[in-house]
Amino acid sequence: MAVIELTSVRKSFGALDIIPGVDLKIEHGEFVVFVGPSGSGKSTLLRLVAGLEEATGGTIAIDGRDVTTLGPAERELAMVFQSYALYPHKTVRANMSFALEVAKVPRDEIRQQVDKVAALLQLTNLLERKPRELSGGQRQRVAIGRAIVREPVAFMFDEPLSNLDAALRIEMRLEIAKLHRRLGATMIYVTHDQTEAMTLADRIVVLDKGVIQQTGSPLQLYERPANLFVAQFIGSPKMNILNTGAAAAPLPDVPNAATHIGIRPEDISVCDPREGHLAGRIDVVERLGSDTFAYVTLADGTLVTVRAPRDSAATVGQQIGLRFQEGRIHAFDANGAGLAS
Ligand code: ADP
Ligand code: MG
Repeated sequence: MAVIELTSVRKSFGALDIIPGVDLKIEHGEFVVFVGPSGSGKSTLLRLVAGLEEATGGTIAIDGRDVTTLGPAERELAMVFQSYALYPHKTVRANMSFALEVAKVPRDEIRQQVDKVAALLQLTNLLERKPRELSGGQRQRVAIGRAIVREPVAFMFDEPLSNLDAALRIEMRLEIAKLHRRLGATMIYVTHDQTEAMTLADRIVVLDKGVIQQTGSPLQLYERPANLFVAQFIGSPKMNILNTGAAAAPLPDVPNAATHIGIRPEDISVCDPREGHLAGRIDVVERLGSDTFAYVTLADGTLVTVRAPRDSAATVGQQIGLRFQEGRIHAFDANGAGLAS
């Protein structure tokens, strides 16, 4: 386990300031997820922690030791990438043993350690196979196993599930969550997928353009987004954003400084067109079985997504009213900053 502390960490590539300055403390055993759109600097920040990139400024400390100028090997972290990068001609056991052999660990000890980790990851029956004889999920488990055998002080994952199909991604997501609970190790996990972030993280760090937009537990970010970026990035379907003038009926809990309000699809209910805060016409109805999503166009052309019950009577072309659930309206000022309401 390790405490990882970043203080004013900067990274530029030539004239490009990719990470203008990050302060972040990750506690012992914490599962922290860096999430943001492609190009937001997630991998760069992770690589800075791992020592695969050199910081342009600031300091990185692991358990109080300044590692800013140390190489990756001296930081004792393990990395798991999207590409498994297994040795194709070696067996699973040989792949998992390799780093320990390089470190001159005695043979018996390597065998014991690999057996232990293989059992943990349900790889025991696959130890004599070659990577090409494994499924994508099994290969990713071997890549994780190879990282674990070295007993690193912390784990770094960079989009480890992005190459897997949807069903397998969910299965592996659960396995990683269980693994974290069993090992109790500090983990930093990078993903562009907000669902993965929400389901895995103790704490999410939302990045945009190399800048931390907000840090908090999944529900803190969902319920109290600090700004419009976080409000629209976290949650699927996205939060609806409307001009404050759009509502026909008064909204009691919106501060005067607000220029925009946000309301999540599940916090809107459908009512008679003469009632409610807004009125519009249903353009598309999606029936997912568990939920129904109605896409409603308002008179001014704004599109609003509404989550309705599975057996909703919503039909395309219908004129409806929309009512906002009390206490669920988010308010934002002209700069996009969230306002307490
Ligand atoms: P993410 O992982 O969030 O998709 P990255 O950290 O890979 O984003 O990249 C952040 C930004 O830094 C991108 O604009 C990318 O083009 C740039 N970048 C990353 N590595 C380099 C590099 N070696 N040289 C120049 N620009 C880079
Ligand atoms: Mg990346």
